[in-house]
Amino acid sequence: MELDGIDGMPSMDVMDEEDKTLQRHCQFPSISKPRINNNDNPTTTSVHELLECPVCTNSMYPPIHQCPNGHTLCSSCKTRVDNRCPTCRQELGDIRCLALEKIAESLKLACKFSTFGCQEILPYYSKLKHESACYYRPYTCPYAGSDCPIDGNIPFLVSHLRDDHKVDMHSGCTFNHRYVKANPCEVENATWMLTVFHCFGQYFCLHFEAFQLGMAPVYMAFLRFMGDESDARNFSYSLEVGGNGRKLIWEGNPRSIRDNHKKVRDSHDGLIIQRNMALFFSGGERKELKLRITGRIWKEQNKQ
Ligand SMILES: [Zn+2]
Ligand SMILES: [Zn+2]
Ligand SMILES: [Zn+2]
Ligand SMILES: [Zn+2]
Repeated sequence: MELDGIDGMPSMDVMDEEDKTLQRHCQFPSISKPRINNNDNPTTTSVHELLECPVCTNSMYPPIHQCPNGHTLCSSCKTRVDNRCPTCRQELGDIRCLALEKIAESLKLACKFSTFGCQEILPYYSKLKHESACYYRPYTCPYAGSDCPIDGNIPFLVSHLRDDHKVDMHSGCTFNHRYVKANPCEVENATWMLTVFHCFGQYFCLHFEAFQLGMAPVYMAFLRFMGDESDARNFSYSLEVGGNGRKLIWEGNPRSIRDNHKKVRDSHDGLIIQRNMALFFSGGERKELKLRITGRIWKEQNKQ
């Protein structure tokens, strides 16, 4: 299926406006933040709460410290409290709370992304490591060019991109986009555009942007997969741009949105068009950038 082209690239001014609006309107329901434990009575405190540092409320890992009166403290807070217990002001010394460390060792807890679908139950001490790489951990917003603080699962981010960033959404595995810019010589690093494609039951982000590669102004187009790295490898895509009897073709695997946009861009993992070539493709008298980029996404055979 062929899709209609999209004209025009948003100017930086428009982007700035949008970014400000976003900061005000976007809120993601909080994902299991550690509860703050202000309860001093140990009889009503669960073991789990005992393992929260009373100062920073982070989970504590060995060495867990305590003052002579038994108030606990995580190791990073200990370095910041000038050898005084933050609870009772007693001198801290170097006492480790071995009992609590042992208790922690016997604990098994659900991954904090269980609400996103992770079913792992993990020993306390390996929970953090698992969560930092958990398949179900939330993705950060793939909208480039702004420091959007939103994260969440893919369906959430798709609606966020559509509703809050007003990103164009298209269905189908082929596309045909026109990028037009009136004054192509005023290329700024931040001139870019994002379109989302929906096919094979998945979402893909097509990035198009202008930036300075060394001394040379270039345009770059690349696709990112909205999902995990391991699933991204099941897909391939091609991009084609040309004009005046010349053609550039790029073929590759989409990168996961786990890799941030800048990382993909800086590794040049996509279709790169030198500005001179881009203007040549555009025809006319180099006054206007008019690129037609066609592309296709497909699922790799003999892969799940
Ligand atoms: Zn702490
Ligand atoms: Zn104390
Ligand atoms: Zn997990
Ligand atoms: Zn966002």
